[in-house]
Amino acid sequence: MTNITELDTNRFYLGRLCKYGHDWNFTGKSLRRKDYRVCTECQLWHNRKSYWKHRNKNRESAAAYYQQHREEIRQKHAKHYQEHKEDYRRRQSKLLRTPQRKESWRQYMSKFRQTPQGKVAAKRAKFRRRAYKLYNHHAHYSLHQIESLKQRFDHACAYCGATINLVLDHFIPVSKGGPDCLGNFIPACHKCNTNKRDRDPMIWYKSQSFYSSKRWKLILEVLGKTESNYNQLPLF
Ligand SMILES: [Zn+2]
Ligand SMILES: [Zn+2]
Repeated sequence: MTNITELDTNRFYLGRLCKYGHDWNFTGKSLRRKDYRVCTECQLWHNRKSYWKHRNKNRESAAAYYQQHREEIRQKHAKHYQEHKEDYRRRQSKLLRTPQRKESWRQYMSKFRQTPQGKVAAKRAKFRRRAYKLYNHHAHYSLHQIESLKQRFDHACAYCGATINLVLDHFIPVSKGGPDCLGNFIPACHKCNTNKRDRDPMIWYKSQSFYSSKRWKLILEVLGKTESNYNQLPLF
């Protein structure tokens, strides 16, 4: 059954029932195109079938065409965008503002936040917002980079060596101007992270009972710092 409820008599007509019995709105007849006399439902199926049949081939040829005429296509699109700028913007803002869209987005996000990736993403967004609020620097980092950072410390707290409840610690606290980027991250256990709070990393660490000069050296090495410039703000 098609979604067309009102018959466009210029393009369609109700004709003989097709051999697959595509009954249009319980009329006992098939909706056919005036030009090709083909059943609309049959045509839809045919189109879908041929789309999947030639999908890979078509994609490849489209990609090849794009590679050959890259600049041309880009310029064409840019020109079209410049000419219809207002239309694009109006349409986009309209689309984004509909209540249905907002609601579906809200539902999607609340589901996503329950997943492990979603939890990490929420945490990163929190970090980023906090950095923006204080006008601190922020640079993007990937989950892969975080994973290799954790590996450098054998998936243990960089300060005390504990392996449970690991979180990312901003080496130079965000409230002290510490940027939100990879060069300012150290894996730490929840206990160390909360205990350290916004204190100077070196003063705090050296006053702890679990202080180890070996671990302190490793932290400086991973962050690319020395004892004299450990407070310098990284950019990446
Ligand atoms: Zn049919
Ligand atoms: Zn710790």
